[in-house]
Formats: sequence, structure tokens, C-alpha cells
Amino acid sequence: MDRHDTEPEPMETEPSNDNDITDNANITLDDKQKRKKYFVKNREEQKENITTSGLLFIKTFQDLLMKTKAKTDSMQKYMQKILHSIFFLGYINDPSISPKEFIPSRTLDKYKKVFPKPFQEYSTHLPNQTPYSILLEYMTETLDAENTDIFMQELVVVNESLWKLDDDEGNQPVANDFAFSASVITYSCVKDLKNMRFLKKAYGASISCKGKVPRKIMIALSALYVWDKAISYVVCCGAKGPAIQFPDQVHCNAYSFDTKNRKYKEVPPCTKCNKMYIVQFKPEYLVTNKTETWPFGNCAENESLSKLLHHNTDVRQAIYTVKDEGDTPMNRQDIENKFKDEYEEKMKNEVKLLLRSRNFKVPTGDWQFFTPDVQYCNN
Ligand SMILES: [Zn+2]
Repeated sequence: MDRHDTEPEPMETEPSNDNDITDNANITLDDKQKRKKYFVKNREEQKENITTSGLLFIKTFQDLLMKTKAKTDSMQKYMQKILHSIFFLGYINDPSISPKEFIPSRTLDKYKKVFPKPFQEYSTHLPNQTPYSILLEYMTETLDAENTDIFMQELVVVNESLWKLDDDEGNQPVANDFAFSASVITYSCVKDLKNMRFLKKAYGASISCKGKVPRKIMIALSALYVWDKAISYVVCCGAKGPAIQFPDQVHCNAYSFDTKNRKYKEVPPCTKCNKMYIVQFKPEYLVTNKTETWPFGNCAENESLSKLLHHNTDVRQAIYTVKDEGDTPMNRQDIENKFKDEYEEKMKNEVKLLLRSRNFKVPTGDWQFFTPDVQYCNN
């Protein structure tokens, strides 16, 4: 099946500024007005879609917490993270969406009382993950993630419940328009050659949010503060950079959610991931003449391989870069240094501008990230 790592147009049609609409001298004034109207209408539809999806995501996650009998501290930790991530993505949307637009007025006070921190910090603190990535983390901690068939089936149930629900006004987004779902899930793991068994699986989701600017921001925040720096480096280098060679026993399997048949299907890596990572992909890479519209860093492989590098020191020590013949390979530490020298500052400045363009208050000193209120959790 085809791989779709981002949602289809027109949900991604977000002009970066008015010049995108008005600069072309060959179009008539009437055309310009029509196109401007289209973008305004599209932005309004997108706002509505994000608002509905946000509430449905919150409801579904609460149901999941109940179903899995989450303990109070775990429930507090994950609900706070999910609420904050959704409120942040709503805030930086154009037009901006406030928390009270996500939560129905009759329950707003209750949410504010039980989870005060996300309401206080959505416009001052940054999230580490998108909502779906947080959900995936909760599921891998709670369910048997080593049995892929069962685990993916559980994910199907969650995805289905996202689309079965409707908000209080009866709005129900179609699967492809759902703003916060990840279209691809990937797991990476090491095959233990002694007993031919797979060791702990590291799951990752594709970047699950709407709009070019929020997507850019989430990829940059991941590269700067979340991913292993080897992943950050090859993502930043993009098409012109080297690849990371993983040890032979590292495997990487991707699954795309088929919204029509409501199930996950194995999918080969995209050209970008195949360029960045030399790893045992399953299914193997297939040459395609289709245009891949998503940016470097968008795919689930990045989060998954990064998690593997975080928890497996042997793999982290063994990776190195491969570029053209004659180039000196870099080890993990060299790659991190190179990322810091060449990309870190530049990337920070770019994200700062993007965040400011969405009225997010970027502090002059260290950036602040959202952390759930642990003290509150223990009460
Ligand atoms: Zn990819």
C-alpha cells in the first residue's frame, strides 16, 4: 500500500505569509481574491477540525486510562502531558485556539481544577512530544508491547474509538482529517544472535499535528531536545548528508494505518529514511517515482531509532556515519559535536522566529519545557 507520512492536501495548505498569495504577477486581482478567500476558508475549516479532534483525543485517552486501570499518578502525569501538548498545538495554530475552545464549558472548571498546570503553561512552556507520541508511550509502558500483533490491535482499537466518537455538538471528523493521529508507527529492535530473539522494542510515531509551521516546530524541538543527536544530525543534513550505519542485528519495521480497512499494514521506508539510515528495514525499501511531500524528520523511524539509541548503549557505541568513499566515518560523539557546531544555534534561532510568529513567549534564557506536576500527582 502507499505510504502517507503526512495527511493529504488541502489540510497542509498554509501560506507562510501573504506574499504566497499575492506576489505572482500573472494572476488577476479576481484570482488573488478568490485564492485568499480559499485560504481563509481552509484555515477556518482546519481550526474547526483541530478543535474537534483535540476534544475527541482527550475523551479517547481518558477512556484508555479507565480501560487500562491507570493509577492516579500515571493518570495525572499522562493527562497533563496530553492536555498541554494539545493546548500548545492549538495556541500556535493560525488562527489560535484557546483551551476553552477544546473543552466544553460545562466541564471546563472541573478540568482546570483537576489539571491546572496545562492551563497555566500552554503559552509559556514547550511540549517534548505530540499527543499521539505521548499516547504511544503510555501504551508501551502499560500493555505488552513486545507482542507486536496484539499491541498493534490495541492501537487499532484506540484509533477506531477516536473516529467513532463525536464532540458535544455531534461533529465527527473523517479519519484522514483527524488532526492528532499518527499515520505511521514504527518499531526498532535488536535481534539477539545467541538465541535469535528480538530484544526490547522501541516504538515511534510520525509527527502528528496539522499545519506546516507546527510541524516544523515539533520536528525542530525533537531534534534539539528529544532525539539522540545522531538522529538530529542526519535529519538536519537531509538529502546532502551522510547515512548512519546501524549494526546488522538492528531491525526497523514500519506500519501504516489503513483508514479504509481499519488495520495496520507493513510499509517500506520512504526514500528519505532509506537515505538517512542503513538498517534492516522490513519490508525492504522499494524504489518509487512518487513525490514524497513530507519533510526530513517527519517519519516514525526517527523517534523509534532515537529511542533505541537512548536505551541501548551497545548500539549507540557501534553506530557511525557513511558518506562518499574516502570520507572519514564519524562515531556517535563526533556526530553529536558536528550537530552542535553546524546546526544547533541556527535551528534554535529558526524555531524562535517561528514561535514568535505564533505569539509564543520565548524566554531570553533557557527554554522552558512542560513537566507534569509530580507533587500534585502524589497528593
Ligand atoms: Zn521516512
